[in-house]
This record gives sequence, structure tokens and C-alpha cells, in this order.
Amino acid sequence: MTSTERSIAAAEAHSAHNYHPLPVVVSSAEGAWMTDVEGRRYLDMLAGYSALNFGHGNRRLLDAAKAQLERLTLTSRAFHHDRFAEFCTRLAELCGKEMVLPMNTGAEAIETAVKTARKWGYQVKGVPDGQAKIVVAEGNFHGRTTTIISFSTDPEARADYGPYTPGFEIVPYGDLAALEAAVDDSTVAVLLEPIQGEAGVLIPPTGYLKGVRELTRARGVLFIADEIQSGLGRTGRTFACDHEDVVPDVYVLGKALGGGVVPVSAVVASREVLGVYRPGEHGSTFGGNPLACAVALEVIAMLRTGEYQDRAKELGEHLLSELGPLAGGGAVDAIRVRGLWAGVDVNPALGTGRHISERLMERRVLVKDTHGSTIRIAPPLVISKEDLDWGLDQLRAVLGAG
Ligand code: PLP
Repeated sequence: MTSTERSIAAAEAHSAHNYHPLPVVVSSAEGAWMTDVEGRRYLDMLAGYSALNFGHGNRRLLDAAKAQLERLTLTSRAFHHDRFAEFCTRLAELCGKEMVLPMNTGAEAIETAVKTARKWGYQVKGVPDGQAKIVVAEGNFHGRTTTIISFSTDPEARADYGPYTPGFEIVPYGDLAALEAAVDDSTVAVLLEPIQGEAGVLIPPTGYLKGVRELTRARGVLFIADEIQSGLGRTGRTFACDHEDVVPDVYVLGKALGGGVVPVSAVVASREVLGVYRPGEHGSTFGGNPLACAVALEVIAMLRTGEYQDRAKELGEHLLSELGPLAGGGAVDAIRVRGLWAGVDVNPALGTGRHISERLMERRVLVKDTHGSTIRIAPPLVISKEDLDWGLDQLRAVLGAG
């Protein structure tokens, strides 16, 4: 047995099978490259679902983390600590908002956004108690908690977890008329991914986000943008909403906010919205801890210069010019690209997304399929153009389109 096989067998014996990882066992990584236990190098074209936008082992982020590790790691929110105020101030600034509620994972931040919208609905909007409704989109992916999967349309994510949390209405993604019809007097929020990542990097029709903004503003409903995967540079702008010059009422952030070092998530909004909380009404032992704040502060500083957004835009244009010609050529049915983020619908005759991912792995490129025959490409934003080109050569070879 190789060390890879031993590792995988042990993992299968002793961990729940809630994932089906590719058969590679990574032991170190730097930039856009990962090395496995046998010393083989792989190009990372997934970047931890965009948690690794700044690459593996990013020097600035590691230095920030190390310095903070030596000083103070955790206080709980029972006490103030000296990185908290700066983190909240800088993140609010980055978002053009006033207040921040920090959590850890994306799902926790979405839960927080749901609770915030309901509380705001009862206290500010005046919705009768127990009647708050949140409108969401078909094909959404917002996390894995019981409430969140209650409004998922993915049977795999949902089955056997009932009874489900009520208070959500699902409408087709990208359909403004359907959204308008669903919004009523008890609606407190519309919760959407500006680009649906897990659904296959689905980009809504141009004008949709603007329409959602106008509709929610006119109807006194919060627009909550789940930018957990799409935000913080991935699409070539700080937020995916920026592509339509739309500012939602609530940003939900995660993944890249923790720089691939620690889990950090947050809900960011105005004082009117996040001001609804009083002590004891919501919280988290780890949310906003000193280590998380130190790393996230460095992430925010890196995003403030715009260089990562520009890099994603520039490499994204290249990615589109390289991938574009594949569409309709037989191997690929459709391609969607926004910034350094692509969904590639492979012709099912060539195999499932899983098969394609395995074949890419054999060629030392790591990607992840989403549904059916769709694969998603989202390398760290620090990838070099040469490495990206090499990765795309491997993709073309696997698709027989090279
Ligand atoms: N929202 C979006 C858009 C996501 O892509 C994800 C994770 O993939 C989540 C929420 C959930 O984040 P987490 O896995 O950190 O709970």
C-alpha cells in the first residue's frame, strides 16, 4: 500500500463519509501549488472554494497570524480585546457600511443574517410576530445548518433532515417578476448569491441585481447578498454586486476573509439593521477572536489596494479568452466566467464532473465538480499566467480539445 492509499483507507475507516474527496493526500502547499505525501505537485484550481484567494502560505497573512499567535489568541467576547475595534472599523469601511457582526463559518454568518433580518422585520419594519418571510432563490447554496438546508432546493443537501424551518419562499434565480410576486407585506429580506457558486458559477441576467435592489428598496425589504464565495476579489471587483453598481443592505462574508488561515465570517450592514441587537441576544465564543481579527485585518489591507481585484480581472479576461473557444466545440456545452472564476459545463458524453476532475488530477491539476458534468475553476488570485495556461492546457487535453 502506498502512503496515499494508507491515508485514504484510514480516513474512510474513521471519518464520516459526508465528503468524497479526490484520491490525493496533500501535505504542504505554497502559492497556487500543493504537494502530496508522495512528493507530487499539483496546481490548485479550486483554492478552497475561494477561501484561498491569496494563495497557500501567503507571507503577509502568515506573518500577521504568527505575530498574533504569540501575543493573544482568544478572549471570548466576555472581554474587549485590542484587535476587535480596528477589525470592525476597517471591514465596515471596506463595505461602505457602519457595523459588523463577526462569526466564524459561512453558515453561521448566514444564520446571523437570517436572525438579523427577522429581528429587523419585527422591531423596525413592524411585521406581526412570527410572520417574517425571507425570499430566496432556487439552486442556492448558503450552508449546511438545519435552517439553511430548509430552503435549499438540492435534495442531497436536504433529505432526511426535516422537520424544516418555515419562513422562506423559493423563487427561480434571475427571474425578477417571480421575485416581485413573492414579496409581500410580511417579507423582511431577499437573500441571494450575486453569482451562484455551488450551482455552477451561474451569473444572473444583466440588470437582475439592480432590479432586486430597486424592488427591495421600494418595498422596504432588506437585500442580503451572500458574498461568501463571490466576494473579496474573486470576480475582479471587491464584491460581485459591484459589477452592477449595486450596494445591498447586508453583506455576508466568509471564506477569503480568513485568508485560508482561520475561519472568519461576518455580517456587515448599517446601524439601523445591526443596531437591533442587545447583549445576550446572539453570539459566538470564537466570533471576532484576536487571531481571526489579525488575519482578517491583513486581508482587508490587501484588498484596499485593489491589486488582487485587478489581478482577478486581468487573469479572468485571459481565462475567458482561453475557455471561450471551447464552448460549442463538442466537448463543452457552456462556459460562464466572471473574474478568475469559471463554470464549465462539460458535454455529459465525456463523463461526469467527477470523472473529469479525476482525469485532471492524473495530470496534476486539482479542481472540483459541482452538479452533473460541471466543473468549477477558481485558482488562487496569486496564480501566475504561465501556471494558469499550463492548467488550461491540461483541461484541454482531458477534454480532447487541445
Ligand atoms: N454561502 C456560500 C455562497 C457558499 O459558497 C458557502 C460555502 O461553500 C457557504 C455559504 C457556507 O460556508 P461554510 O462552508 O463556511 O459554512
